[in-house]
Amino acid sequence: MPESCRGNFIANTWTIPDSPDRVATRENPADNDQTVFEFPWAESAVDRAVVSAKDAQPDWDRRGLAGRMDCIERFRAELEERRDDLARAISLEMGKPLWEAKGEAGALVKKIDVMSDEGLDHTAPVSPDGVDGGWRYRPLGVAAVLGPYNFPLHLPNGQIIPALLTGNTVVVKPSEFTPLSMQLYFECLQQAGFPDGVVNLVQGPGPVGARLSSHRDVDAVLFTGSWRTGRIIREATLDQPGKMVALEMGGKNTTIVCGDANLDQAAAAIAESACLTTGQRCSATSRVVVHEDVVDELTDRLVDLFERTTTGDPFDEDNEPLMGPLATRPGFRKFVNVQDDDEDGAVKPVLKGGADDERPGGYFVRPAIWRATDVDRHGAHQGTELFGPEIVIYSAADDQEATRVANATDYGLAMSVFTADEERFDQMSYDLKAGILNLNRSTVGASSRLPFGGVKKSGNFRPAAVLAGLFCTYPVASLRADVAGPDHQPDGGVLSRLRDRDS
Ligand code: NAD
Repeated sequence: MPESCRGNFIANTWTIPDSPDRVATRENPADNDQTVFEFPWAESAVDRAVVSAKDAQPDWDRRGLAGRMDCIERFRAELEERRDDLARAISLEMGKPLWEAKGEAGALVKKIDVMSDEGLDHTAPVSPDGVDGGWRYRPLGVAAVLGPYNFPLHLPNGQIIPALLTGNTVVVKPSEFTPLSMQLYFECLQQAGFPDGVVNLVQGPGPVGARLSSHRDVDAVLFTGSWRTGRIIREATLDQPGKMVALEMGGKNTTIVCGDANLDQAAAAIAESACLTTGQRCSATSRVVVHEDVVDELTDRLVDLFERTTTGDPFDEDNEPLMGPLATRPGFRKFVNVQDDDEDGAVKPVLKGGADDERPGGYFVRPAIWRATDVDRHGAHQGTELFGPEIVIYSAADDQEATRVANATDYGLAMSVFTADEERFDQMSYDLKAGILNLNRSTVGASSRLPFGGVKKSGNFRPAAVLAGLFCTYPVASLRADVAGPDHQPDGGVLSRLRDRDS
């Protein structure tokens, strides 16, 4: 039996569209014969949600931070209370193992703690010494939050919370692959008792997102998803320069392993980073550039680790598999099909991956390792964000070549370098182009207390996490003076240059 659908949440009321455009169904990625959710959707719901958010925004802003925090603290308590339900919903519809989904559900309250503490420091009023005045950050208005399926709650939550804290109201459109998790999240918001219209939910696929992001009364689009969709949103909002468009997009992330690195440490970090969430993290490692002296040694270690990865039922709490299925049918097909493509000889298989024949009923896959003989930044493996457990290994003669190969991608989200020499890392960091650059750590595992965002096709210089409040606000500068007394004469300053009335 599919979980029951409550529809959209608009002005504090759940409503199923009367005349839906379509009814979407979501299959269980681990057991495709099972439907886990069915939901009717209608583009027209967007307009009602935006009106509701727009009407609610001035009062929400005037409540001030303390007034808003009351609601957010009650919401935090609800999230704690329903943490297990949220985790189960994430596993059910997204397919990540329950142990991992529990981590995501637990991260929601941690994000509230960081954003309502040090996150707010970045949008606190500023009064520079020696200036009669300063600036303060004002909310943008109505923020549309569009989410991806791989972290169906953690990533939208990372934008909803800073938007609300800074005085915006929100309309949230989750991924059409993960509607149930967001329904539960909104049940928590409802329980917290936000004023009507402050938080709104519209369910649906791409066309609903398109209507929302291009809506004239939406002041900010806070998007997390693919470069392809980010580009469409950017194009659709070109004639709305007053709209904040914050794009957190895909990654094709590279780890460099130098000859002086600890190879066991590097191999473990790469395997984890490539296979965690079945390779469906924006920061997953998919390119590995290795000094030629140690490339064979490192490859052997990686093959060993990849072969030993476990795959299984997301709810198997006894065995706790490392990987569940891929989340979506298109993602599964893309990953499987590409395993027959050697980019005209530019890559050679080292460990054959593809569909997991032992688990035919779901989108289960085995991880793959390829070795590049040639750099092709647009190849099916080397250039495309596959969003599955796969790496391509390159060999480099020196740090200059390693840096050049690492940068030979259109994406720029995360990179990492393994070396015993910090100075060497510092030198390479002058040239490596990415928003996240780790030393002796993998490309995954970000801290909410740091900025998170990429360059090139990964982002547009609006990093999320601790800096998210900056893209939810705009600075208003203000100079101030004491009110003048009744005898005030406009003498001095530029007015001393006025012509005398009698002359
Ligand atoms: P997606 O781009 O397909 O979808 C993201 C959201 O956009 C969904 O809600 C979708 O319905 C909506 N959408 C689709 N078409 C739209 C349109 N024309 N206009 C407006 N909205 C539209 O992404 P996905 O497949 O759900 O997620 C995976 C992608 O997200 C990967 O590329 C991954 O790297 C990226 N991602 C990035 C980050 C980051 O922080 N940089 C984090 C997680 C995921």
